[in-house]
Parts: sequence; structure tokens; C-alpha cells
Amino acid sequence: MSMVSAKAAYDAYMSVQRKALEAGGLAAHRAESAMHPGKKYVHPVQMFGNLWYVGDKSVCAHLIDTGNGLLLFDSVDVGQGAMLVNAIWEAGFNPADIKWIIHSHGHLDHIGQAVFFKDMFGCQLGIGAPDAKMFKERPELAFIQDSASPYETIFEPDFVIEDGDVKKFGNTEIRFVMVPGHTEGCIAAFFDVTDGEKTYRAGYYGGFGYNTLQKDYLLDIGDTGFEMRKIYVDSINKVIDEKVDIFMGNHPNNNNMLGKIEKLEKEPGVNPFIDPTEWKRYLTERRDGAIALMNDPAQN
Ligand SMILES: [Zn+2]
Repeated sequence: MSMVSAKAAYDAYMSVQRKALEAGGLAAHRAESAMHPGKKYVHPVQMFGNLWYVGDKSVCAHLIDTGNGLLLFDSVDVGQGAMLVNAIWEAGFNPADIKWIIHSHGHLDHIGQAVFFKDMFGCQLGIGAPDAKMFKERPELAFIQDSASPYETIFEPDFVIEDGDVKKFGNTEIRFVMVPGHTEGCIAAFFDVTDGEKTYRAGYYGGFGYNTLQKDYLLDIGDTGFEMRKIYVDSINKVIDEKVDIFMGNHPNNNNMLGKIEKLEKEPGVNPFIDPTEWKRYLTERRDGAIALMNDPAQN
């Protein structure tokens, strides 16, 4: 991509982190984790068959071995590139075999390593069409201003995802539903995972955060009628009755990922990731929370 050397990019990145650390506050918190990415490391976990967790303690990433190329869901936060590469190796795969990265939505903490992976390993990058448009027209909504590295930035996608798309990645067929709300281009994805004998349905919902539904945020981006809140609720309703046996989180707190990993270590015989009730339970909780926010006088 750029003419910036890796060393120069790294030096610039670390210099920004050091300044943020000195400045204190939220920026310092981010800088602290960016300077010590190992603190967020999670040993990769085989959730079931060909589905692996390769994300960290704050942002999820999932790897699917399609039998004909590796597929990655999300490319995690800024500063976490080495850890993501490490997790993929530790899971027993070669990062160079990743053919596609599908992004849940266009925020920086989910797209952080996309450009690096494409440059390094030649994989194709995908994202919901509205968020590809956001990259072009309003990159600040991707929080790209929080990045300090030319490698941790927005990209021109190799493919975009539209509502109702059914696409094949290697031997895995994925059905996509657009679920705007957290961003306009959030995706939901449904597909089968298998260990060769059993098959389960995996479901991914690409963005639950209420941060982009707050009054100040919506007024700031020009949504004076708070339409995005209604869109958020409609999106959940669109997919809440999908059959999902394995709920893939967007952030580990969505599906108590870290608690489940601990549980698996204590009780290796029981798979904590298979729970056909969790999808509907969590989506209901998020929908109710969004409705409560809509009815909050302080938010109107
Ligand atoms: Zn987000």
C-alpha cells in the first residue's frame, strides 16, 4: 500500500501511544492496551468442528476452516495484529491460508488488521455495502481518527455484502441479512459448522453497541429524528427467530465468551458454545435495552 516503511509506521504508532498515555483518560486506556497487546491475548479455542475463536479479551474474531481456504470474521482492534497472527498459528493454522475476511461492521476495533492481512497474505476483504460507502463518504464514523498507523485503517473492499446474499466461501455457504442499527452496514450471518459427523447452525450478529444510538451521537451525525434506534429494533426483529445453535459474539461479553472458555477448561467434556436458546435470549435483551433507551427522557 503506502510508501511508509514498517519501521517508520511502528515508530509513529508508538509515539502516538506514548503521548496518549501521558494525556490520561480514555485515550490512555486504549494506549495502554495498544502498547501491551499481550495483556488482551486469549488462547484460541475450537468452539466446534471447523469453527475457532481467535479473538482477544475485548473484540471477537472467528476462524472457519472451510475445507478449501480459511475464512476470518473480523480483523480486531488497532495494535492487536501480532496477537491475531499468533492466535491463528496457535490454533494450528497458517495465517497465509486466510482467503477472506468478512467484517461485521466498519468500526475501527473490528477492521483494525484488515489492510495488514491483505498486504501480507493477499486475502480478500468483505464488508456490508453501506459501511463500504461510509468508508468513502464519512470515514470519521468508522472512528478512523483514533488510529495512529497507516496499516490500521479503512479499505476498498474486494466484495460487499447486501441483504439476502448467499455466498460460498470454500465449502461453507453463508446466508447474510443486513441488520443496520449499530452502523448502517452491520451484517448478520448464518451457516453450518461441522466436525465431520455432527452439524450445527452458527449465527453471527454484527454489532449490538448502543454507543451509536445515543442522543448526542445521533444529533451529531444528523439523525435528528433518531431513526437509527427504530432501525436497530427492526433489525433485531428480522432475525430473532433464526435457528442458531452456536451464537458467535461480536464482543466477548455478548455471549460470555471468556466465562465459557473457563468452563470448558474445568469441564472439557461439555461444549459450552452449543446453546440453542442463547441467540434469542440475548437479542431480546438488546432489543429491550434499545426500547428503554428510546423511552428515556434524557435521551430525547
Ligand atoms: Zn462498533
